[in-house]
Amino acid sequence: MISADSSAERLSGPVGVCVDRPLLSLDRPFTYDLPAELGAGIGSLVQVPFHGRASRGWVLGPTEDLPKRMLAVKKVVSTVPSFDDRRLALFRWMSERYVAPLATVIGRAVPPRVASEEVGWEQREAESVRTSHDGEPRTSVLTGYRGAEPLVDAIDHGHGAFVARPAPEDEQAVAVGAVTACLAGGRRAIVLVPEADPLPATASMLQEAFGDRAVLFLGGGKRSRYRTWLEIAAGRYDVVIGTRPAVFAPVEELGLLYLARESHPAHREDRAPYYHGRDVALARARLEGAVCVLAAACPSAEASALGFPAVTPAARRWPPVEVVRPGPAGRASRLVRALATTRRGFLFAPLPGSGVAQVCRACGEPAACASCGGLLRAAEGAVTCVVCGAAGRCRSCGASSFGVRRGGAEDVEGWASRAAPVPVHRLRDGERARLPGSAEILVGGADDVRDLGTGDLDLVAILDVDLADRRPGLAARERSLATWMEAVGWARPRGRAIVQASSPGDPIVQALVRGNPDRFHAEERTRRRDAGLPVGAAVFRITGDEHLESELAAFEPATLLVTASEGRTVCLLALDPERVPVLGTRLRELAANGVVERVEAEPHL
Ligand SMILES: [Zn+2]
Ligand SMILES: [Zn+2]
Repeated sequence: MISADSSAERLSGPVGVCVDRPLLSLDRPFTYDLPAELGAGIGSLVQVPFHGRASRGWVLGPTEDLPKRMLAVKKVVSTVPSFDDRRLALFRWMSERYVAPLATVIGRAVPPRVASEEVGWEQREAESVRTSHDGEPRTSVLTGYRGAEPLVDAIDHGHGAFVARPAPEDEQAVAVGAVTACLAGGRRAIVLVPEADPLPATASMLQEAFGDRAVLFLGGGKRSRYRTWLEIAAGRYDVVIGTRPAVFAPVEELGLLYLARESHPAHREDRAPYYHGRDVALARARLEGAVCVLAAACPSAEASALGFPAVTPAARRWPPVEVVRPGPAGRASRLVRALATTRRGFLFAPLPGSGVAQVCRACGEPAACASCGGLLRAAEGAVTCVVCGAAGRCRSCGASSFGVRRGGAEDVEGWASRAAPVPVHRLRDGERARLPGSAEILVGGADDVRDLGTGDLDLVAILDVDLADRRPGLAARERSLATWMEAVGWARPRGRAIVQASSPGDPIVQALVRGNPDRFHAEERTRRRDAGLPVGAAVFRITGDEHLESELAAFEPATLLVTASEGRTVCLLALDPERVPVLGTRLRELAANGVVERVEAEPHL
């Protein structure tokens, strides 16, 4: 709990201040004299003179680094501290690990202040009461899990990290069970979900289970976000459920950090400081003596490489999965027959449209966009370029009639409608993800595979596993598998799945059949190592001038990929995480003399 008069000890004399100038070249504490009468402490937002101007900054604590001439802190901007010493330790860890200015980290971790919400802050704090837990045995779902006992023990009174792979129909209940164990031990919990809309089933089930003791910290406007943050800081809630920024929630007596759908790409922040929720959660749990649980049907390669104890269903709880070769026109007769008896189903068909133009009907040349040479796709009755959006015209002769190779969600919707006894609906772009109705088959892609609760579908089909190999990006296969496993899980508890693949022995297919990605992950580790970007390495994309390459080469990184044009150099660098602090020190120097322009940590590969 952040308290204006207890935990934030009032300071005076020389203090280090993080000036709110988020530049790597200025990323160090500046010393100011803090007058006692201001009543400021660690985390206080203050105003200081900086390079002749008034600037905001945060008090970091007493310092012995005394400059010859010391300016005074001018005033306190807010009576509500932005952080306490424990979260400051986390912010410092982030600043080092991601080579990001501390001011950037604080700016991302603390919501923008809305001064009028701070009125009556002290009263609000006095109001905060912790209700006692009702003792309902909601941990019981975990009794069917291997490795649950050490997990519950640790959550109750210890610390550590675990990887949980809930059975599909238990995804939400396992989160509730873990949080129950945490509250029973008298500590508080933070649950991170990857998305806000539609509200993940895990979030709504937690809210239902814990009522007034729980709060959602996701979405919403600036004012409501800041109000919720103040209430959390005042200790009003025992369970905070939110997206990425909730990992920084000012929760005291933290016992559990639970990441739902840990392998979801949205757990990674796409703006500076480019942190990953998984790593920050692990670091915070370590710093605060709490337990971190990484939960997913298919954890990330990173999570699986960390070697944490696993928590998995004691008996197989995975749908029967049949692998068939894609038949003519992309549909196996086995699948078409299965559709005839399906009342509720999901067909995973990630490509839009009804097919791809192969050849010009007028001149016989391979089809390509007349404007840009891009791929031409048939969708909604028209052929358009997927690159530039122009209407489809032949690059060689300008004609607009093409021989099309059928495929894509529209095509699937067409043939599935003819095969199925119930309506088939294709989820459109921007249409809200949902489970099929009581007599309905849905056609959807990756964006439609969300945490929507137990599916109980008759049939889930993954139409084109081979597609994953054609996707760009080092983590494309891993991401595809995670999505497919979540979709296949919708066939629990009574249904089955059909997977169309031309290489049934591929570890990615076998992972789907077994409901276990271990062998696939072992193969991924080899593949990533061979590509020079090993799982667990720290990866940075650094932009700078022509001296950058030789400066970075001096670190002898595992990998250094360089692209240069017009005096600008972009380097992709992979190295042992233990060497990042030394690299960070050098990058800060190089930023100060203009060699380094931008540092992006953990880019999507
Ligand atoms: Zn084009
Ligand atoms: Zn032509």
